[in-house]
Amino acid sequence: MNDGFLLCSTVDNVDSKTINNIKVMKTKKFVLSESEMPTAWYNIVADMPNKPLPCLDPKTKQPVTFESMSRIFGEELVKQELSTERYIEIPEQVQDLYKIWRPTPVVRAYNLERMLDTPAKIYFKNEGTSPAGSHKPNTAIPQAYYNAKQGIKYLATETGGGQWGSAMSLACQYFNIDLRVYMVKVSCQQKPYRKLLMNAWGANVIPSPSDTTRFGRAVLAEDPDCGGNLGMAISEAVESALEHGDTTRYCLGSVMNHVLMHQTIIGEEALKQMEMAGDDPDVVIGCFGGGSNFAGIGFPFIRRNLIEGKKTRVVAVEPASCPKLTRGEFQYDFGDTAGMTPMMPMFTLGHTFNPSSIHAGGLRYHGAGPIVSQLYKDGLMEAQSVQQLETFSAGMMFANSEGIIPAPESCHAIAVAVREAKKAKEEGKSKTILFNLSGHGMIDLYAYEQYFANNLIDHELPESEIRKAVDQLDKILK
Ligand SMILES: *Cc1c(COP(=O)(O)O)cnc(C)c1O
Repeated sequence: MNDGFLLCSTVDNVDSKTINNIKVMKTKKFVLSESEMPTAWYNIVADMPNKPLPCLDPKTKQPVTFESMSRIFGEELVKQELSTERYIEIPEQVQDLYKIWRPTPVVRAYNLERMLDTPAKIYFKNEGTSPAGSHKPNTAIPQAYYNAKQGIKYLATETGGGQWGSAMSLACQYFNIDLRVYMVKVSCQQKPYRKLLMNAWGANVIPSPSDTTRFGRAVLAEDPDCGGNLGMAISEAVESALEHGDTTRYCLGSVMNHVLMHQTIIGEEALKQMEMAGDDPDVVIGCFGGGSNFAGIGFPFIRRNLIEGKKTRVVAVEPASCPKLTRGEFQYDFGDTAGMTPMMPMFTLGHTFNPSSIHAGGLRYHGAGPIVSQLYKDGLMEAQSVQQLETFSAGMMFANSEGIIPAPESCHAIAVAVREAKKAKEEGKSKTILFNLSGHGMIDLYAYEQYFANNLIDHELPESEIRKAVDQLDKILK
């Protein structure tokens, strides 16, 4: 697999230069001090030329109200969901917890540049440095904080691959909240280490479908061996939260406005760090599942485009087997497979769409969320899709040059960074690339094992399969 490149394959003298007899070293990492950490999240809704359309109650087809949403989510989070304020202060206690790993570094990928022999400069923001290994604690911590402040004692959520569940477990133990994680049963069996992480942080992990909810019991009565899916897990988590409405709430790790906003700490830091580096990215890249890490790195750069007339390209990267932005349709659809959530205006493949089982589990989501969908519709961001083998090949280049094993999801962003760097070489032009490394892949080594064994394939997705799921939506909406 190693194409003959070693970390220090060349010993060269370009790493430093001498100016006035002083040796000047190239800087590898751009690191902010804790006192330079941004103290507000950015709410892009304030600056959007066309505001996102409202989410609708599926029964009344009327916009969802603060009251109905507050039965499911913490009150302050619902306020943020509906807010049009440009900046929202990060509470001091949240800032203190962020400091466990934030600010995260922006790193210049010199070794990758050399491997690609490109004139492009490649930078990455490393969100894999959090205790849970991904960007997800950036929103898990404020979600636990606001719920605790409201007196909530229990939270319920679901998790597929376990990334969100582990971030939420980490967050809840800081605030003495009992967390119940409905984890898709087959994932529980396939990914025992993420379950153990959640247990280590004190969460109660329940394989879904389970006998703890009416919904789960009904599923099990039909099929006792059901391995579950994300839609079922969401249904169980929401039911469990609604059942104990005075002490329990539900929480979600992507898609929603407040979640995207919490992640903007990534891009706010990156803006400062690129300035430290004396560079300005021509293109900013994030992988795309429900849109939270993409929004995190991208929205502050889109703000400069909107307000200062900058022309930074901001690119979302989705799997070719789950192409909601590049091949989906702009439609009202449910946020979950089971049809429990409000209907959201979004680019979607249809909530019944079942993406093939690629290893980037965090990107197997059918829709794109209201804000990103509106931005994409208005041409304020771009999207590309990448096949699985190209992502792992790019991920291996990154691992063999920069040393970090990337999460399979993050490999999608790396793949497009590599595409951009190769294009720069072909055109003989320099450019500056910034991508978000949304997480490390140390708990995803099984996926790499499959890649090494040549067991992974690219999935062609016929148009008929997309049409089938999207056409079903027309019926639901009438
Ligand atoms: C969950 C996850 C994603 C996808 O979710 P987004 O909301 O689109 O960011 C991407 N990368 C990693 C490492 C994840 O854990």
